Amino acid sequence: MADAKSTWIINFHGIGEIERAFDPGESEVWLDIDRFRSILDSIEGKPDLQITFDDGNQSDLEIAVPELLKRDLRAVFFIPAGKIGEETFLTCEGLKEMVSAGMQIGSHGWSHRAWRSLDPSIRRQEFEESKNRLEQIIQRPVDLAACPFGDYNRSVFRHLRSAGYRAAYTSDRGIAIEGQFAKPRNTVHANDDGESLLSERHTFEDSLQRRLRLAVKRWR
Ligand SMILES: [Zn+2]
Repeated sequence: MADAKSTWIINFHGIGEIERAFDPGESEVWLDIDRFRSILDSIEGKPDLQITFDDGNQSDLEIAVPELLKRDLRAVFFIPAGKIGEETFLTCEGLKEMVSAGMQIGSHGWSHRAWRSLDPSIRRQEFEESKNRLEQIIQRPVDLAACPFGDYNRSVFRHLRSAGYRAAYTSDRGIAIEGQFAKPRNTVHANDDGESLLSERHTFEDSLQRRLRLAVKRWR
């Protein structure tokens, strides 16, 4: 347990100019390009770090992918499958291009709604149909999911597992531990910078180390 691998996951949303109305809360997580570039510069080369993007915006392909590649970074992009091809969202071709560039695709459900309160037949569309559609487009297995609005409970996780997912990415902040189904992520906000993100990481790592030290103490 004490040597379980831990990863710091940071999660972006849209980058650059937005050409549609923001969903509630979306403007707080939409970054301008300069800020995005400077954050990538400060996290480039950091160990045990994973980058993800939610929502399947066109800026994933137009802005994020080229900036990631310049720094030899890769990311997982979580796509709401029902929005593919809608204005300002990624197209099927775009998804294929991202995969060819070495990026990974995960499911962000079907139509970007909170999962906890949905009845099982709608969950099937959110979990199974979204997975099938994405797999058909990219011709690869899709087995990672990200919960819209960070919303989940045990029943959501049970259903995700039985639909064939091997991890659920949340927005809980903190450190992701290898082998655990829930992967907490740290959302990047419009006013964050590299320094604030890295100092947050250290705070979490310190507390994780403390918890592990205490756990070891208890067991010896
Ligand atoms: Zn989302």
